[in-house]
Amino acid sequence: MNSALRVFKFGGASIKDAERIKNVCSIIQQHGEGPLLVVISAMGKTTNTLEEVARSYARGGEETLALFEAVKQAHYAVISDLFGGDHEIFSLVNDLFVEVEWVLEEEPQDPYDYLYDQIVSIGELVSTRIVNAYLQEQGIKSEWLDARDVILTDNIFREGWVQWTETQQRAQQHVAPMLADGKMVITQGFIGSTSENFTTTLGREGSDYSAAIFSYCLDAESMTIWKDVPGVLTADPRKFENVTKLERLSYREAIEMTYYGAKVIHPKTIKPLQNKNIPLLVKSFIEPAGTGTTVSGEVEDNYPPMVAIESNQALVQIRTRDFSFVAEHHMSMLFKEIADLRLQVTMMQNTAISFSVCVYDQDDKVARFKERIEKDFQVTVEPGLELITVRHFQNEVLQRLREGKIVLMEERVRQTVQLVVKDVPVLERK
Ligand code: ASP
Ligand code: MG
Repeated sequence: MNSALRVFKFGGASIKDAERIKNVCSIIQQHGEGPLLVVISAMGKTTNTLEEVARSYARGGEETLALFEAVKQAHYAVISDLFGGDHEIFSLVNDLFVEVEWVLEEEPQDPYDYLYDQIVSIGELVSTRIVNAYLQEQGIKSEWLDARDVILTDNIFREGWVQWTETQQRAQQHVAPMLADGKMVITQGFIGSTSENFTTTLGREGSDYSAAIFSYCLDAESMTIWKDVPGVLTADPRKFENVTKLERLSYREAIEMTYYGAKVIHPKTIKPLQNKNIPLLVKSFIEPAGTGTTVSGEVEDNYPPMVAIESNQALVQIRTRDFSFVAEHHMSMLFKEIADLRLQVTMMQNTAISFSVCVYDQDDKVARFKERIEKDFQVTVEPGLELITVRHFQNEVLQRLREGKIVLMEERVRQTVQLVVKDVPVLERK
């Protein structure tokens, strides 16, 4: 029966208010026949606000409870819109909020990443409760699943790594029987738990990845991500004119583009699907009848130029202090630090006495990296850069992208060009 399972994923924008939630439910009603597992993110920008709550709490900020109250009220307003005055969903959701309030009332003692996960995970727990209750109101036989009972991660908070064997076993044990019973399963994106049952998160925008984890573990027939764009586009329409939608895309293209900043799919999503040859459909929740984009194993070789831009890049230049060569033992030490910090590397280049690495500038990771290696190396960091990736490039496209930019590092491998750039400073007359 699982062979016919489909997995849907709805992100924050698709459920940002009562109208959108109704829309999601009607998509599920119209397109969700057969066994279905639905993965849902937190509503709208809830995760951003919860991050503020976590930050404020950690520094003992006075506004913590007020910030959290705003999150609660926003949810209660949506619940009122959907259900009217009196419905059991109010108390279900309230119970979840109370658990976070217990945390917030204590002095922050645990490590920040741990606290962050305990607070921020509430967004998905609440949104799925609301959508599930609304589906049930519409007469759909849906059941709420706590994703933490299935997705097991390691103990690295905020960036939990999935323990695949156990996760697969637990999916087969808990979820397969629910689906076999003909129930539609509604569960959270983004969250998992450690072997000691502490909540973890999988990294920002991780709900796509959660859907892929479920798809993989339950051998789904297909997975669909419902977005506010018609499918995968050749570039971000907020930044470029003349973008076009791709009908088909290979897993490989999708991995490369998303890894380097195409925001449409979380980069970790593709690999589990590819490993089981599960097609990924990217469709619009605004125009659900559209064809969308199909990402699959089929090879295409005539792609148009595709552009992805990733900001928050930092270029780290590392030189030996004594001008000896940057040799193997240096490299292995540098890579060990990179791995320990889970620094995400986007480009590297080395010369005899220097090693340059471009990385995602996330939290204080780059500062920690610098601190750790500074005793052995001379290190300079240039933050605030952009990484431009062009696959299947054409020269005119590249030329236009270079306009107004200073290129700090550049690499070309076959049909792909990558540039690390910053804006040309605007000169003002005195
Ligand atoms: N709610 C989480 C976030 O905003 C996960 C997701 O939306 O995919 O990062
Ligand atoms: Mg999101």
